[in-house]
Amino acid sequence: MAKDQIQVAIVGGGIAGLALAAGLVKKQHIDVHVYESVPAYKDVGAGLALHLNAIKAMTLLGPEIRQAYFDKALTMGDEDQEMVTEVILGQGPHKGELVAELGRAKGRKTVSRADLLDGFLALIPKDKISFGKKLVEINEQVSGEPKVHLTFQDGSKVEADCLLGADGIHSLTRSYLLGADHPAAPPKNHDGWQIYRTMVPTVEARKQINPKWTTSVPILLGPRGHINCIPLNKNTRLSAGVAVRGAVLSAGGGRAPPLDPAWYADYTEDAQRIVRMVAADTSASWTAADHDHAPYYARGRVAMFGDAAHASMPFAGNGAAQALEDAAVLDCLLARVRRTDELLQVEHALLAFDRVRRPRSQAVVDLARKFGRVYAYAEDGMHEDPERMKRFFGEMAAFTNEFDVKGQNEAALKVFEELELGMEMDDGVEVNGNGKVGGVVES
Ligand code: FAD
Repeated sequence: MAKDQIQVAIVGGGIAGLALAAGLVKKQHIDVHVYESVPAYKDVGAGLALHLNAIKAMTLLGPEIRQAYFDKALTMGDEDQEMVTEVILGQGPHKGELVAELGRAKGRKTVSRADLLDGFLALIPKDKISFGKKLVEINEQVSGEPKVHLTFQDGSKVEADCLLGADGIHSLTRSYLLGADHPAAPPKNHDGWQIYRTMVPTVEARKQINPKWTTSVPILLGPRGHINCIPLNKNTRLSAGVAVRGAVLSAGGGRAPPLDPAWYADYTEDAQRIVRMVAADTSASWTAADHDHAPYYARGRVAMFGDAAHASMPFAGNGAAQALEDAAVLDCLLARVRRTDELLQVEHALLAFDRVRRPRSQAVVDLARKFGRVYAYAEDGMHEDPERMKRFFGEMAAFTNEFDVKGQNEAALKVFEELELGMEMDDGVEVNGNGKVGGVVES
């Protein structure tokens, strides 16, 4: 490592960690290393759909990062087949009515997490990432030096100038930053969501459900669960699921009950057929959770990003996109920092990241919760007014997908420059005369 380089440890080699590392390895003044707990990536769950804000964030990180996504993504159906997510009322007086068409496009793509990670990994030199390194302890109090000391489960230790935790929903970095007893430290499942899910070969699914739903993306809404199908791998595999709000709560917080098609007798016939198919094999089921708002994402030279900072319910389909927006902002800020004795520029960069990314990413967490309640007819009568629902979906899709991601990077740089100039922040964080950050204020 060159003397004036800044050592950045990224813990967690998921989408957030690898995307940022792929950006930082291009910077001469940064010596980045990723520590990932698993020995190799496994494919888990359905494919990810990355929306326009995610594509813009990858482009800002570098054209090769965006290209890695396009090289790995598969079309849901045929290249020239137009697909759209159709949100339809599945139960009640307006049953069968279409309330939103989201993301209409030819050749819509999904990417498996493992494939996307492989694509990012190819952009990072092998000596910049270590697998099988599960972080178990963070310590900033060793020998008074401005260093972050990391201990891994295998007993090995490293030190770095700065720690960026991208260690997912059960993040150790989050517990360290907030304190393990902080109410927002662990993930929560306030609404008791259980996602019953199956994967079926498309030829089999066509025998059981309306074949229309094997080449399109329906979300059929109702009070005892919303039903959803996603064609995968060029129409060869179908992911089908029923997300039930309250299922875990009805089980007293324990295991959710088995999915019972009898709950759906008043849903549309199409919806009932999908439920019966899912109920026959729920082996891909899981329990959803998200994070209550953290009061800050950074303190000193330690920060968290991606799901570690703001895990959300999957209903707005924007969690990975938010992780990529984080990576784009951090990459842009760290491009500016230079080594100083006390590494204050790094602290200012992480504080600027917090200031700019926390409000938007936490709004997306709230939005995903709200999507869940709207889907479950639990949002103050919205399902009785399809026009209101249409407006809601239109506005929310614009908020997540059509966001000015480049403008966000520019806003972060402006905050960084203000901190560097010693200007006082208007939200209570004071920067004193010699540029030291006075403290992080809980909001
Ligand atoms: P993760 O992907 O969780 O990565 C964290 C990494 O840290 C892991 O590799 C883990 O092994 C490692 N790690 C954890 N602890 C430690 C430790 N102590 N030491 C070292 N390493 C550690 N988002 C979208 O944008 N579009 C979608 O369509 C979409 N669909 C989804 C569908 C489902 C079913 C689910 C569950 C999520 C979906 N998401 C979607 C959300 C998206 O998958 C996540 O937001 C995204 O993967 C978060 O990336 P991350 O890198 O922050 O966290």
